[in-house]
Amino acid sequence: MDGTLYCAPELRKKYADAAYQTLSHYKKLDPSQARIIVEEKKKELEKQAGGSMPYTLTLKSLGVPIEVWHKENIKYVDPGQFLVPDMKLKKTLKFLKKEYKLAIFTNNNDIQTERVIQALNLKSLFDRVFTYNSFKLLKPDPEFFRRAMAQFEARPEECLIVGDRYNVDLAPARNLGMQIYEVKGPRDIIGSTSS
Ligand SMILES: [Mg+2]
Repeated sequence: MDGTLYCAPELRKKYADAAYQTLSHYKKLDPSQARIIVEEKKKELEKQAGGSMPYTLTLKSLGVPIEVWHKENIKYVDPGQFLVPDMKLKKTLKFLKKEYKLAIFTNNNDIQTERVIQALNLKSLFDRVFTYNSFKLLKPDPEFFRRAMAQFEARPEECLIVGDRYNVDLAPARNLGMQIYEVKGPRDIIGSTSS
């Protein structure tokens, strides 16, 4: 979702703060110390992966259980405060929905995902919403993609995965034989169907 259906730097910043706070609580660290540890780990993982790394995977590799992170971010971040409906995006998705089944594929949890869909006013446009809660799996685990695909009874070549992080969203999909489309934000989705 983030970076694909919306770009909201303030929301991203709020998630970063939530990540520092989560590590600080979980490992009983000073908040400023937690911030340094999270950012250093994030950089290290980005170097390894050769691409950007979300806070969810950064905290996971620091030993924070996903459920702990999700509980904290639900409490601390309300995406609805940072997002407004994008009529062009909605129109584009409506257009795509005539021919394709649409699904959301996110490492976030059910509650935050629902808040985002509400705030963007995109309810009813998605046939399925897959979150961490669906299978207790995170991208880039290929099993997440396989299980979601099975729910659509689709073959890999019939699926197009749209995402903004190559290493997390797209590389595993491509390895499974799915088609991929890399975006820098919703503008790239809108631009793709306007002509
Ligand atoms: Mg994203």
